[in-house]
This record gives sequence, C-alpha cells and structure tokens, in this order.
Amino acid sequence: MAKHAQHIQVLSREQRRDPPLSLSYWMEEAGGLPSVTGARVSGHYDHVIVGGGFVGLWTALHIKQRQPGAAVAVIERYRCGSGASGRNGGSVMSWWSEIGGLLAIGGREEALRLAHASQDAIEAIEQFCLTHNIDAHLARGGWLWTATLEDHRDAWAAVLADCDRLGHMPFTLLSPQDVALRTGSPVHLQGILEPGAVTLQPARLVLGMRRVALEKGVTIFEDTPVTHLQPGRLVQVHTDHGLVTGESVVLATNAWAAAIPALSRFIVPVNSSIVVTEPVPQLLREIGWAGDEAINDSQTMVNYYRKTRDGRIAFGKGTGALAWGSRIDATFDRHEASLRMTEADLRRTYPQLGQTPITHGWSGPIDRSYDNLPILGTLPGTDNIHYGVGWSGHGVAPSYLGGQILASLALKQRDEWSECALVNRVPKRFPPEPLRSVGGNVIRNAVRRREAARLAGKKPSKLDTLLAGLAPGSNHP
Ligand SMILES: Cc1cc2nc3c(=O)[nH]c(=O)nc-3n(C[C@H](O)[C@H](O)[C@H](O)COP(=O)(O)OP(=O)(O)OC[C@H]3O[C@@H](n4cnc5c(N)ncnc54)[C@H](O)[C@@H]3O)c2cc1C
Repeated sequence: MAKHAQHIQVLSREQRRDPPLSLSYWMEEAGGLPSVTGARVSGHYDHVIVGGGFVGLWTALHIKQRQPGAAVAVIERYRCGSGASGRNGGSVMSWWSEIGGLLAIGGREEALRLAHASQDAIEAIEQFCLTHNIDAHLARGGWLWTATLEDHRDAWAAVLADCDRLGHMPFTLLSPQDVALRTGSPVHLQGILEPGAVTLQPARLVLGMRRVALEKGVTIFEDTPVTHLQPGRLVQVHTDHGLVTGESVVLATNAWAAAIPALSRFIVPVNSSIVVTEPVPQLLREIGWAGDEAINDSQTMVNYYRKTRDGRIAFGKGTGALAWGSRIDATFDRHEASLRMTEADLRRTYPQLGQTPITHGWSGPIDRSYDNLPILGTLPGTDNIHYGVGWSGHGVAPSYLGGQILASLALKQRDEWSECALVNRVPKRFPPEPLRSVGGNVIRNAVRRREAARLAGKKPSKLDTLLAGLAPGSNHP
C-alpha cells in the first residue's frame, strides 16, 4: 500500500479568486452555458473526476461504459465546457504530426499504436455523436498544414520522414496551386493534407457529452471548485461547498493543474486567442474556399483557422502569452494584445475580407507540455489519485484516448491504456517562478520579433533566433 501524503492543493488561494471564463462564440451558438446541475456536494463515489472538460467527461463516460454500475461524480469549478473544451478551434487531428515525440517516448511499436489510436479516436467521436444524436457540426475536410513564409517551407519534413520510415503515410503532398485553391488565401506557399482530420463545433460536443453523462447516471457538481484533496484509501475531495469521498480521483483540470505541486512543472499555461467574422458565405464562395479544411500555418505562434457552418471564418493564434504564477486570470478570458495580433493575422491571410467586422473574440488557456504530448499517471505517494494534463492545444481528439487511459487507471485495469508510454513518464520540466514567467516572456518576445522580421522579409537578429529556438515547438494552438 502506498504511503499517503498530506493534503494536496488543487487550486491555489490566488486561483480561487480568478473569475470564470466568459462565453465563446461556440458556447453562444450552442445556446449558452448549461444551467448548473445544483446537486449538493456530498456523498461517496467509486470515482470522482475533477474538471468537466473533454478529458474529465470522456473519463466518466469510459468508466460508465466499462462498469455501468459504478458511482461516478464529475466536479467542475464553473460549468462543464467553460474551459478549453468549449472555446477551442475545433480542429480534430490525430497525433501523426507528433510522431517524433511519440517515437521518443515509446519507440516504434508504441508510437505507431498511439498514432493509429488517435486517428481511431476521430472516428469514435463521430460515432458517439451519431449514437447520441449530438449535432456537433462535424465536417470532414482534412487538416491542411501550410507554409506561409520561405523559412517555413517543408516544416513537416521530419514528420514525413518518420511516417515514411514507419511505413504509414497519413499525409498527402499538395501542389502550391491546390493549396491556394483550397484555402482561398494568397499567403500559402506550400502545404500537406491529412485527409482523416475533421472540424467540429466544440461547445456542442462538450454539452452533448455532459448530457449523455447525466443520462448514464454520472453526478455532476458545477460552480464547485475543488480546493484540495486528502489522500487515503478513500480520498476526500474538498470544495467550498462541502466534500465528497472517492475510491479513486482523476485530476483533469488542464491549465489549472499548474497549481498542483506535483504537476506544476510539467506544464505552463499559455494563451491562445480566436476571432470570428460575421457570416461571409458569398465571399467564401468567391475566394474558392469550398471545403471544410482545418488549416494551420507553421509559425511558432501558430495561426489556425476554419470555417463555421454558417459561413464565418474562425481564426485563432497561439500567442503564447503567460501569466505570473501560472494563474488563469482574466487575460486568459480576453487578452486584448493577443486578440489584436490574431485579427491582424486574419486580415493578412484573407485580405479579401476588407473591413468585414469581427463579431466575436476570446482567449483561452493551453496546458503546454515541453514535447506537446500529454502526461498521465498516478500522483507520487498515492495509488488512487490519477492525472492527465499537457494536451498542448491539441486535445480535441486525443482527449478521447485520455479518457480511455484515465478510466483504466481509475479502474486499476492493466491494459494497453494504463500501460502505454504516456503514463507515468518523466517529462522535461519547466522552471519554477520567477524564471518561468521572466524567461518565458523573454523567449516569447524573441519569437514575436523573429516572426515579425520574417514577415517583413528581413533577417531576424542572431539573438532573437537563438532565444526563439528555446521555445517548445508546436504546430498546434
Ligand atoms: C483557444 C484554444 C484553441 C484550441 N484549439 C484547439 C484545436 O483546434 N484543436 C485541438 O485539438 N485542441 C485545441 N485546443 C486545446 C483543447 O481545447 C484542449 O486540449 C481540450 O479541450 C482539453 O480538454 P480538458 O478537459 O483537458 O480541458 P478543459 O476543457 O479546460 O477542462 C478542464 C476543466 O477543469 C475545470 N477546473 C479547473 N480547476 C478546477 C478545480 N479546482 N475544481 C473543479 N474544476 C476545475 C475548469 O473549469 C475546466 O472546465 C485549444 C485550446 C484553446 C484554449
């Protein structure tokens, strides 16, 4: 039996004062945040899940699928879907673009297995929506990974080489003409397509998952921040409104998990921001963006964009802004400077928009890990408190796998999920404060200057190139 530690902080004192995040365009389109379930915070459960986003809800649903009689509770700080899951870009991609990282942590067989599993997750999400009558606006357009600057040509070369070596090529090389045609934008020089990827309306998916979880008998406590845990054979899960006990606990609090001491150095919360235009279906027809591609460029502060069902452009930018002490403060709801950068890049990418108004803009927290892959496992000193963090702006499809892995850990099932290479791995760590914010901002500013110089056709300074090279790489939000 593991030796049980003292109480474990889940939210810091400062974080408890942080305001809830406001509505995204998606949540508004889906009819608004769910009304609070209003359940009284008490009782004993087999499994208690902290966090009502994709990861927490998939975990609850996978547990119920495997053990329908299990008593499962989800505890959510604000409302299910109010975090990243209800405010992301809705690009649903596999892990083939992360194949280098998977090879590094798991070797050939495991990397292949996890990459295929992430592809299967896209099918599984589609099937889940069909089975449960969730209209999540799923559209099969593939993922288009592009280069918009000379320096970004062949940004995918290493990924393609790894796929080639592994004998599975999920990407199709497109001609520059095809990229220009598909995107309807003059800025793309080159691109590759992953045809298996889709886009969806994320708030509709997360609200659908919440409904199904309730139908399956999961208890959901909302407006209920978990403050700390008292480990033991029965874990006490403390909130401001009472406590519940659980045989097992799963921590699925995404960027907020930076407050949990054992996880704090695995991730750093960074900002990503999205703007949405008013509907422009006629313009989209004119510029020839006829498909439903999810598009990314190859900047470190990546741009990611897609159409909405009613003919808007939703355009996001991983601006990487940080907050002191890893707080998810008001800037993670709306980061004005990030939103200005995002809109500027939208208008540069689609000059045809002219003065078309932006109707919505918001920001959100990304739980960036060093290698862009999640980190799952069991907290040291416990055998029944599990975690899954570090989705790194690429969690819509992978969170389905996360739910499978966390369900296996919670149920103590030894299988291909609980034993996979993502579990209990020892990741590269971010430094503690003050280095985390100070160093992070120095690197971020260097990235910004390097990208501005490249855009202006100038050579970035040697120092900026050197410092920007220290940023954890990513081709996702
Ligand atoms: C702007 C943006 C764009 C993105 N675009 C994409 C994309 O296009 N494609 C893609 O694959 N991924 C994207 N992502 C990432 C993706 O949204 C996430 O990886 C995914 O939603 C992860 O889900 P989650 O459950 O871990 O996090 P969340 O949805 O954030 O859920 C965590 C939940 O925990 C709750 N919580 C926190 N602390 C506590 C506590 N103490 N007690 C109780 N509850 C707590 C929070 O309120 C939150 O609801 C994007 C993210 C953002 C922010």
